[in-house]
Amino acid sequence: MGKVYLTGAGPGDIELLTIKALKVVQKADVIIYDRLANPEILKEAKDRCEFVFVGKEDSHHTLPQEEINEVIYQNALKHEVVVRLKGGDPFVFGRGGEEGIYLKERNIEFEFIPGITSAVAVPEYAGIPVTHRGVTVSFRVVTGHENPKKGKSQIPWENYKSDDTIIFLMGLHRLEFITKKLIEIGKPKDYPVAVISRGTTKDEKTVIGTLSDIYEKAKDLPTPALIVVGEVVKLHDKLSWWEK
Ligand code: SAH
Repeated sequence: MGKVYLTGAGPGDIELLTIKALKVVQKADVIIYDRLANPEILKEAKDRCEFVFVGKEDSHHTLPQEEINEVIYQNALKHEVVVRLKGGDPFVFGRGGEEGIYLKERNIEFEFIPGITSAVAVPEYAGIPVTHRGVTVSFRVVTGHENPKKGKSQIPWENYKSDDTIIFLMGLHRLEFITKKLIEIGKPKDYPVAVISRGTTKDEKTVIGTLSDIYEKAKDLPTPALIVVGEVVKLHDKLSWWEK
């Protein structure tokens, strides 16, 4: 029986992979990877390494999570070093916890390797600090993707009246709904919003707007994309660097 490394691949730029992640990729017998993990990383693997793609794009999951869990488990029965490579950090909407529990219940040894999360790094490449002294004292990371079968929104919108920076992941397809909700709970229509597409890659694009106009400006941007809401967005003018 092998050991599974539940590994964060970082947000896109291959140089944001940690040394620890790179080391396990180099000794892996099999790498089970997501769409969000930069495929360039796979070039670091040894010659005999096998690759298993398990898809997952926002709401269109190529494989249901149950099947992904089982794929990881089956590979752990066959191989010594199994790397489960996930975009960003495994615990930030990465379902790393679920995969760990599944393995634990089957007595498979595992380790978590944190990754740099897109929630912080993507705004950073766009020159938007998630906290900034005198502007905001906290930030929230929220899923924009909700289970439509559950009917009513599961997000506690009333909690978001404060001036925290809010970062929505998996939210581009719900941008119109999200901005309407924030206006509904009392945020000004001209409150600053940024949408950042393909952050930390050479295709990164940031669109700046307000709660009332960002939907029209940003709805057609390519994914993956995240949404930043808050006064810190105004710092983009001064701090933008990567896209230049
Ligand atoms: N575990 C990941 C997040 C998984 S949820 C992490 O820690 O980064 C997937 C969402 O992350 C996407 O829908 C998008 O909102 C965001 N995301 C991931 N990579 C991104 C990138 N390079 N640019 C913009 N958003 C990204």
